Amino acid sequence: MEDRFGRRIDYLRISLTDRCNLRCLYCMPSEGIITKPREDILRIEEILKVADIALQLGINKFRLTGGEPLLRKGVIPFIKALALKPGVQDIAVTTNGTLLKKLGKQLFDAGVRRLNVSLDTLDDEKYRQITRGGKLKQVWDGLQEALRLGFRPIKINTVALRGFNDSEVVDFARLTLEYPLHIRFIELMPIGTSWMMADNSFISCEEIRDMIEQKLGELQPFPKVKGSGPAEYYSLSGALGSIGFIHAMSNHFCASCNRLRLTADGKLRPCLHDQHEVNLLDALRSGAGDEDLKQLFLKAVALKPANHHLATGAPETGRGMCQIGG
Ligand code: SAM
Ligand code: SF4
Repeated sequence: MEDRFGRRIDYLRISLTDRCNLRCLYCMPSEGIITKPREDILRIEEILKVADIALQLGINKFRLTGGEPLLRKGVIPFIKALALKPGVQDIAVTTNGTLLKKLGKQLFDAGVRRLNVSLDTLDDEKYRQITRGGKLKQVWDGLQEALRLGFRPIKINTVALRGFNDSEVVDFARLTLEYPLHIRFIELMPIGTSWMMADNSFISCEEIRDMIEQKLGELQPFPKVKGSGPAEYYSLSGALGSIGFIHAMSNHFCASCNRLRLTADGKLRPCLHDQHEVNLLDALRSGAGDEDLKQLFLKAVALKPANHHLATGAPETGRGMCQIGG
């Protein structure tokens, strides 16, 4: 599929659940979000049906996210079934890593090779604070297990927060000297509960890059990491991994946007930062056939905006990242 700006759409991000076992300050309120009742969440067989339609329309790459996707009951059989579908080229997972030690082997055996693990600090106490109760050791053990099992690439998503982890960016960068990890610094976006953070929490990727270069020397452009999406990658001399920057607040990657998002409650979202949604759940449950579902996909593609306007005052998206599938 191609949208009206000539962008090829071949990637679907599937949110498997809006639930999470952490409460990151910028993502969820302390009491959690009001999750959808179970009957409003797509069943596994419905998601597989959506994947069939997507495949027929030329989508061949999938990412599973959430909420925390590894909490979804039946996640492993779901991945196995998806991986068996003809045409599927890639299945990746974005996770907070807390269940990786337990599920890593099953994920690998089911066919997942690419992992994004979210980790904003390397300090136990700060991790507990930012996630409101999480245990850093669980994630670190999960990461070691993922490295041992052979997942590649493993990317670390680190939301850059002034006054919180700006003092750690050099430590994060140093990890790439020791491990084949791809650290990606993400600019804080005004979505979810990020308004609860102090106004001055935002720190730009440029500033982080300067901080790393001052301590560790000039960063060299790094050949694209598989599935690199919106990040720009660099590396330190002699590193095993790379350092990526996701300038979420500027529009510079919208021009190459190749994705649609499926929310856990069955809405197809043309853009993370746009409130348009196409209701697949109702269509699926009212007996829509393949052709009807394809038309709904095409409608979502036609609704893709040229770019988002976060930096100049975004339209209200109506949902946080955990409800859309970050
Ligand atoms: N629970 C999984 C995880 O944490 O990786 C998957 C879902 S989470 C919503 C996906 C990503 O969105 C995480 O890397 C998280 O840090 C990021 N995220 C959530 N809210 C954000 C915000 N306001 N600005 C930037 N990134 C955000
Ligand atoms: Fe959960 Fe991921 Fe949101 Fe953190 S960022 S609260 S781990 S969904």
